[in-house]
Amino acid sequence: MNKATTPNGNKLSAFFCNIFGHKYIVSKKVTHHIKEYKCAHCKMQVTTDVNGNLSKLTPELQEINDTLEDIFNKRHRALTTSQHQKVA
Ligand SMILES: [Zn+2]
Repeated sequence: MNKATTPNGNKLSAFFCNIFGHKYIVSKKVTHHIKEYKCAHCKMQVTTDVNGNLSKLTPELQEINDTLEDIFNKRHRALTTSQHQKVA
């Protein structure tokens, strides 16, 4: 029912990526150091892991990133707010 990907197109793109390598574009900025990437050709998603390497974006890593993003945004917002208050 849920056709999010097109297997046939991806297969050809994946073949292309196997030869020329993936063309990753940033799909989501999680923190300053952690980003999620998506291959422009085969739509494969990867993310920066805790070691700074690119790992395939698994549901587990996606969940970790969501949590990190949440913490990061809250902290960033709190920091910005406090700085703003100091200025004001
Ligand atoms: Zn690719």
